[in-house]
Amino acid sequence: MDRFEPNLRIPGPTALPPSVREAGARQMINHRGPEFAAMLARILDGIKPYFGTTGDVAMITTAGTGGLEAAVVNVLSPGDRVLGVSIGSFGDRFAKIARTYGADVTKIEVEWGQAADPATLRAEFERAPGYRAVLLTHNETSTGVMNPIRDLAAVVREVSPDTLILVDSVSALGAVPFEMDAWGIDIVVTGSQKAWMSAPGLAMIAASERAWAAMETATAPRVYLDLRVHRESHAQGQTPWTPAIAVVYQVDEGIRLMNAEGAAHVFARHEACAAATRAGLTALGFELLADPRFASRTVTGALVPDDLDWKAFNTELKRRGLVLAGGQGKLTGKIFRLGHLGSVTLEEILGATSVLEFVSIAFGRSVRPGSAVAAAQVAAMESFGLIVPASAGAGA
Ligand code: PLP
Repeated sequence: MDRFEPNLRIPGPTALPPSVREAGARQMINHRGPEFAAMLARILDGIKPYFGTTGDVAMITTAGTGGLEAAVVNVLSPGDRVLGVSIGSFGDRFAKIARTYGADVTKIEVEWGQAADPATLRAEFERAPGYRAVLLTHNETSTGVMNPIRDLAAVVREVSPDTLILVDSVSALGAVPFEMDAWGIDIVVTGSQKAWMSAPGLAMIAASERAWAAMETATAPRVYLDLRVHRESHAQGQTPWTPAIAVVYQVDEGIRLMNAEGAAHVFARHEACAAATRAGLTALGFELLADPRFASRTVTGALVPDDLDWKAFNTELKRRGLVLAGGQGKLTGKIFRLGHLGSVTLEEILGATSVLEFVSIAFGRSVRPGSAVAAAQVAAMESFGLIVPASAGAGA
């Protein structure tokens, strides 16, 4: 089996396309020289449309969590009232970071598998107005739920115009449309190892004018993560500290590949792969965790059935080259997750479905051979508009 590379279906780090891999192996350059400046400018300009912003973006050498910490320490001060909206383990993490830096955090905890409800947010602002900031997770990787960020942000902008909206889009930006400026969002964080098809190591962070202004008065301590220092350095074609140059090469190449494919097709591909994954898993008899109205387009979570020996099942999947992710936090051992973001292709999803189908049948589960792969293929074709959904016109 080890003649082949595994089908790495975890929600990041994602598999690297060959040219991205090669980019990461290139010789080092002077990070204070003109080649680096040109590359940095390409990345910062090239990534803005994916954020949906014309404002400044900072690129920091750090994991995604460092990006979340940067969002918090740059605009908040100890004692600030902050509303943390958590729909899973990454929402919990964002709130914990704010609390650690002394913010007075109130949490809205949504049942895992559900999205945050704009009406709940509105009610909370009516009950307790004056929050300095609200923390939102765009795509909750631990549950496979994508929040209706535009609608949530619209409520905040309407009822509390001065509240800062900080969004963790580590596992979504670049894979789905996003309009930070139009939606009135103040800080958005993403990470290189997700939709950008690169190794871990860089966080890209966009901030609104309101957020840049807030940084001048915020008093949370910051040195390495000070976004103002990054912005100043970026204006000189540099980063303030030595960057992870190999990952910078990769993100440069990743964005080039995405633009060559076309953003609209990148988004459509993610949507089709998500639809195929859901259809395939459902046909295999797995119950999906996410409320279907808010199913993520980058990762799908499914419950481990009570009658399935997951450890043995997963060992067999791995032996056949399929690598899935387990559950996180309170879902550890209860769900498995299949990532479909970044360089993912429909063929990889069909391949994963076929392995799951084969192993399901080998484990005696009641599945008709070929049915899951067929369901996945049909769902993808419907998503791409190649065929008309069977249900279309049913009510006409
Ligand atoms: N936020 C979300 C939604 C994520 O999916 C992740 C990583 O999976 C993070 C934050 C943290 O990123 P990192 O593991 O790079 O610190």
